[in-house]
Order: sequence, then C-alpha cells, then structure tokens
Amino acid sequence: MKKTILITGASSGFGRAAVKLFQQQGWNVIAGMRTPEKMTGDVLVVKLDVTRKPDIAQAISEGIRAFGQIDVLVNNAGFGTLGALEAAPEEVIRHQFEVNFFGVIEVTKAVLPGMRKQGSGVIINVSSIGGRVTFPFSTLYHASKFALEGMTESLQYELNPLGIRLKLVEPAGYKTDFAGRSMGFYGAGGLEGYQAPYDRFAGLLDKWPMSEDLGEVAEAIYQAATDGTEKLRYPVGHEAVPLLEARHQMDDVAFKQLIVSQTGV
Ligand code: NAP
Repeated sequence: MKKTILITGASSGFGRAAVKLFQQQGWNVIAGMRTPEKMTGDVLVVKLDVTRKPDIAQAISEGIRAFGQIDVLVNNAGFGTLGALEAAPEEVIRHQFEVNFFGVIEVTKAVLPGMRKQGSGVIINVSSIGGRVTFPFSTLYHASKFALEGMTESLQYELNPLGIRLKLVEPAGYKTDFAGRSMGFYGAGGLEGYQAPYDRFAGLLDKWPMSEDLGEVAEAIYQAATDGTEKLRYPVGHEAVPLLEARHQMDDVAFKQLIVSQTGV
C-alpha cells in the first residue's frame, strides 16, 4: 500500500526537494505551503501556515480525506533571524518561536490522534546543526532549534511505546531561500558595541560556502522516514559531522574560542 507523507514549508528549499523525492519513490505527498499556487504537479497541495490552527486542521483533514491516513510528518517550515539580541524587536522574537517551535508542536499535535489510532507513524523535525552548536548573532534561531531538539528527544519516551518514531534531520549550510528571502535581519540596531562585529559576521555569511545539493537533505529525510530504526539524529552536509565531533571533544570555552577565531567577532 502507498504510504502518505505531509511536508510543511514545501514551497521551496528542502521541503520542495523532499516533495520531489517522495513523489519519485511512489508516495502520496501532501505538500503544505502558505501560498499554494507556488507548486504544481502530482501532489496534494494544501494551504498551511503553521502558525494558523485553522489551516493545520483543514490541511490534515484534507490529507486524510484524500489518502486515508498520514504515515509520516515532516516539520520543515522554518526561518532564521540575524542580529544582536538587544536589538531584536519583540514581534521578531515571538515569530521566530511561533514558526520554528510552536508551529511544530501544533502540527504534531494535530497528526497524533491519527497516528495513535493506526499504531504507527514517523515524525521528522528539520532542525539544524544550529540545534546543537551555536554561531554569533543567531541567538533566536539557535534558541528555537535547541528547543526543538529537546522537545523531540523527550517526546520519544511517550510516543515510542505507541509505535511512533521521532527523528531530527540536522542540515549544515545549503543554498536555499533560507539566507535570503526567509531570513529576518534585524542587525545591530545602531547600538554601540555591536555594529562592527555584526558587520564582520554578516560579511562572512555572504561568503560562506553553501552546498547546492538539496537532494542530500531530501535523502536524509527519506532515510529517516524509511529506515525503521530508533536512530534519532541525521546530521547532513559535509561540515556537519566534523563540526559536531569537534563540539563533543571540546569544552565550552575551547569551542567558543574556535568559533570566535573562525568568525572574527
Ligand atoms: P527556504 O527555502 O527558505 O524554505 C523555508 C520554507 O518554510 C518555505 O517554504 C517557507 O514558506 C516556509 N515557511 C516559513 N514560515 C512559514 C509558516 N509560518 N508556515 C508555513 N511555512 C512557512 O529554506 P530551507 O533552507 O529549505 O529551510 C527549511 C528548514 O531547514 C528550516 O526549518 C530551516 O531552519 C532548516 N535549515 C536550513 C538550513 C540551510 O542552510 N538552508 C540549514 C539548517 C536547517 P514561504 O514560501 O511561504 O515563505
């Protein structure tokens, strides 16, 4: 029997790449996006802003009506923010968590009744290497992804006994709309002390080598969806594993010094 996957944030980047791969592999795909006209092709496109509860309920009931059940949920929708915490507007702080964290919780809660009933399911949360290590001027983003990691890890205890597995896909840097259209820049807000290091870091980001092979992340999501194991974390991207290993081997001060020396903040 064909399996069914719901992917949030499917209009671009990893979400779009995952839609393509699962479609090629013969899955029923429910592609959730804020602006449904952004995708054409043989998938069920549903309007889904993860911060809007009515969208979530409607998207899931449309998916279940079309395909009977949802076997895999990929919480992929997300965006980044860049700037000094002191300069962060309250609405940006809250919106970062509304999308990257509370949105994941709401969509997850909405698929759980079906997954509990069927006694199976996989929930894949697209985190980041930034869910395990931090870079400068990205406090809100890291906070949202660290929260996502902790929530996902703990959720295993209550959902594994019900046949539902949890997964974290942790990409390194990839060239998507993430660093452009999807990035909320609030900068240094003209506050003394932040501007020069912020400019140095932001300038570095412009030159950061980003992989264009989004298929690697789609493959990691596919593996997480299908490997049938209890493996939790799937780091992906050539700098992901060495960076995470370095973090393991160093104490907090040594790792901070490494990042300072590499970013010049
Ligand atoms: P992207 O191309 O900008 O895609 C982000 C997607 O999230 C878009 O489809 C966007 O929809 C959607 N989105 C934003 N706010 C939303 C909301 N309120 N409701 C529903 N969808 C919303 O960037 P991406 O790199 O593929 O990002 C996907 C995920 O990967 C994110 O969770 C991001 O944190 C994570 N990630 C990215 C990188 C990277 O280097 N690219 C690295 C690690 C982790 P619209 O088209 O409507 O804006």
